[in-house]
Amino acid sequence: MNQMNQMNQIGSGAKFIQAVRSNNLAEVAKKLTEQHGLRNPHLSNANQVDALTGQLPVDIAASLGLTEMVALLKRHGGHPKTVSALMIVDPQNDFCEAREPGLRKPHLTNNPSSLAGTLAVKDSNSIFPHINRLHDSFTAKNQTIFISQDWHPVNHVSFARNHIDSKTGKPHNPFTFNVPLSAKLDSNTTISFNESLWPVHCLQGTWGAEISPLLKRNGRELSIKKGTGIGIEPHLGNLVDSYSAFGDRFHGLFEKSDLQKLIAERGINRLIVCGLATDYCVGSTAIDAKIFFPDMDVVLIEDCMRHVNPEGAAAKKATMRQKGLVIYNTVDEFMASPHAN
Ligand SMILES: [Zn+2]
Repeated sequence: MNQMNQMNQIGSGAKFIQAVRSNNLAEVAKKLTEQHGLRNPHLSNANQVDALTGQLPVDIAASLGLTEMVALLKRHGGHPKTVSALMIVDPQNDFCEAREPGLRKPHLTNNPSSLAGTLAVKDSNSIFPHINRLHDSFTAKNQTIFISQDWHPVNHVSFARNHIDSKTGKPHNPFTFNVPLSAKLDSNTTISFNESLWPVHCLQGTWGAEISPLLKRNGRELSIKKGTGIGIEPHLGNLVDSYSAFGDRFHGLFEKSDLQKLIAERGINRLIVCGLATDYCVGSTAIDAKIFFPDMDVVLIEDCMRHVNPEGAAAKKATMRQKGLVIYNTVDEFMASPHAN
């Protein structure tokens, strides 16, 4: 391929260079993907841009401004412009308490606004005013907001009723932990693990799977569905549950959402993670974010999440801090921090 063709493929000249010069990494990544066929080019630090530049002829890289970009990034300590996104994990009716005091169970009322979810997290409704402040701020800045949803088929692996207890010959009770299961990755590979079994929750298309009306919406949030049961064992949905919004516990070996792809395409390098619940889906999503994107700032806010189990939440937060994730107590603290810029 001659250089002119390569130039045409890479970008339409001035606009591309403008994106590079304004350090708009999301736009650069998008153009490289669309026009050069590069898959999810990593542009979150100087080394990654440097590596990309190395793949191109020197004069092409220079004319595209990539060389300039590397120098710029290195001058700023290797950090590009911050691209923040808000990740609201599983803010769904089935994880929320009843909205009328004293009403705890769905069968106690016919008023949908009062219903409690089948897997309601204690004090869950109190997170929404705080998350809504973040939502307002991200909406005002036109920043990406992701909302994940557990989205299970009736035969999902996490439902206790889908597993027979070999000792009793009857289905397991919900809230049975450490049940040994295995999943076939292919004809030669079986992976064994312990699973927690839950009541039926977040069934696709039902009220329980819907997003709580307490959460503000702007109509532009990106939806991430997980635990959808697209797997290799049709009689039991997928055989590994997905707590993380990125995919299953083996980092997407069996089932992967679009989240990793969307973050890479948009050049997002700071993720504020909130929702339900700290010790399960919020914690797993935050930890996966750091695994998939080691250079990403991952930030959590106590006010904007609630847990199932206090010990589990403490352990998860200790792991998160050890991995370099930052946890603020309140939205006010976060708003006053460098992470809010
Ligand atoms: Zn679930």
